[in-house]
Amino acid sequence: EKAQIGVTGLAVMGRNLARNFARHGHTVAVHNRSYGRTKELVEEFGHEGAFLPAESAEDFVASLERPRRVVIMVKAGKPTDAVIEEFAPLLEPGDMIIDAGNAHFADTRRREAALKERGLHFVGTGVSGGEEGALHGPSIMPGGSPESYEALGPLLEDIAAKVDGEPCCVHVGPDGAGHFVKMVHNGIEYADMQLIAEAYDLLRQAGGHTPAEIADVFRGWNSGRLGSYLIEITAEVLRQVDAETGKPFVDVVVDQAEQKGTGRWTVQSALDLGVPVSGIAEAVFARALSGGAEVRAAAAGKLPGPSAGAGAGAGAGGADLQADVEQALFASKIVAYAQGFQQIQAASAEYGWDIDPGAMAKIWRDGCIIRAKFLDHIKRAYDKQAGLQTLLVDDYFLDAVSGAQAAWRRVVALAAEQGIPAPGFASALAYYDGLRAQRLPAALIQGQRDFFGAHTYRRVDKEGAFHTMWGADRNEVTA
Ligand code: NDP
Repeated sequence: EKAQIGVTGLAVMGRNLARNFARHGHTVAVHNRSYGRTKELVEEFGHEGAFLPAESAEDFVASLERPRRVVIMVKAGKPTDAVIEEFAPLLEPGDMIIDAGNAHFADTRRREAALKERGLHFVGTGVSGGEEGALHGPSIMPGGSPESYEALGPLLEDIAAKVDGEPCCVHVGPDGAGHFVKMVHNGIEYADMQLIAEAYDLLRQAGGHTPAEIADVFRGWNSGRLGSYLIEITAEVLRQVDAETGKPFVDVVVDQAEQKGTGRWTVQSALDLGVPVSGIAEAVFARALSGGAEVRAAAAGKLPGPSAGAGAGAGAGGADLQADVEQALFASKIVAYAQGFQQIQAASAEYGWDIDPGAMAKIWRDGCIIRAKFLDHIKRAYDKQAGLQTLLVDDYFLDAVSGAQAAWRRVVALAAEQGIPAPGFASALAYYDGLRAQRLPAALIQGQRDFFGAHTYRRVDKEGAFHTMWGADRNEVTA
C-alpha cells in the first residue's frame, strides 16, 4: 500500500495536519528529522487512520504514490531549504513539494523557480488556524502552478474548514501568491487585535469598566456585525481571573506584545508596493512600542498627560461610549481590511498572480484566526465588482463607515483629550479622511520638492512637467 500524501516535520503543526489527512481516509506517510516524533505520532494517534512511518527520507519517498506529494512543515527559513535539498534529489519529474510553513513569499518565488528547473512542482501554501485549525480544518492558501493544484487541491480541500459545505481552500495564484496572501492575512490579524485592544483600553480607562464588564460588552458585540473569532476569544481572555492573586488575568500579564515577523513582512512589502497599510503598520509599531521597555521606563512619569478631567464630558462611563466604541472599532476594522485587500491587489498586479480577492475573503470565513461574519460582505463586494478600487466604496462598507463617522470622530477625540493611545482608531480615521479629501496638502510637498531638488511638478490645468526657478526670478519653466 502506498500513501497519497506525506508529511515531513512532525512538530505540532505537521503532526496535526498528518492526523487531519488520516482522519479523512487518506494514507499518510510521516517523517521527521529525529525519528522520536514520528514514533510518538504513530503510537499516540495511529488508531485514527493509516500512517506509514518512515525513518529515512528514502523510505518516506518510496512509500508515496506518484505524483508524490511531500508536505514540509518545518521551521521557516534555512531548515526549509535544508529539507528541500534533502528531498528534491529523491523525487522525479512531476512530483511536488508543498511548503506549508510560514515562508516569506520571496523565498517561495525563489524556491519555485529553482525546483521548476529540476522538473518539480513547488507549492508554497499558507495554512492558518494554529494547531487546532491544522487538526480540525484550517484555512488553506496554496500557490504554485495550476497543474499542481489539480493533483493536490482535492486533498487540501478535504482537510480544510468548510462553510456551507464549501472548503476554505482555493488555488490563490502561481509561485508565491499563497504565502503572500497568508502574510497579509497575518498583517490584518495584527491590525484587528490592536483595534480590539484599543477598544478595551477606552472602555476601561475612559469608561471606567472592569475587565469582566468589558468581557460582557465583547460577548454582546460578538452576536452582532463584529461577530468573529478574535472578538469571541477577547471576551474569554477578559473574563479570566488569575488563580493565584484573584486579579483579572490582563492585570497580571506583562504589557509587552511579542511578534514572530509576518506583520513586519506585510508592512515591508507594502512599503515596496507603495500601498498605505497604515492600520497594519500602526499595529506592528504598537507592539514594538509596547516592547520597548527601556524607552518606556525613561519616558513614563516624565511626559505629562492632559490635565485632570479633560474630555470628561465626552460620553465617559455611559452606554453611549460603548456604542461609540463599537462604531469606531467596526469602521477602523473596515479600513484595515480595505488596506490589506488593496495590498493583495497591488501585489497581484505587480507579480502577475491574477488573485481573486473575493475568493480570499471566502476562504477566510472559517478555519483561520481572522474568521468573521463580516468576510461574507467582502466576498459579495468583490463578486459584484471584481476591480473594486477600495472596499470603502462598496455599498455595505460605505454605509457602515459613513454611519459610524460621528461616533468614530468622538472616540478619537476622546482618546486624544484623555491621553489614551489609540493609534489604530486615529490612523484609520485619518486614512478615511485622506481618501475622502478633494484636495490634499501633497501639492505643497510637490512645491517643497521642486524648491530644494528641482524634482518638478504637474499642474492641475495643463499637461506636462514644470519647474519654478526658485533661486532666480521665480518664473515657471517647462521641465
Ligand atoms: P516549529 O516551527 O517549531 O519547527 C519544528 C519542526 O521543524 C520539527 O519537526 C523539527 O524537527 C523541524 N526542523 C527544524 N530544523 C530542521 C532542519 N534543519 N532539518 C529538518 N527539520 C528541521 O514547528 P511548528 O509545528 O510550530 O510550525 C511548523 C511551521 O508551520 C513553521 O513554519 C511555522 O511558522 C508554521 N505555522 C505555525 C503555526 C502555529 O500555530 N504554530 C500556524 C501556522 C503556520 P526535529 O523534531 O528533528 O527538531
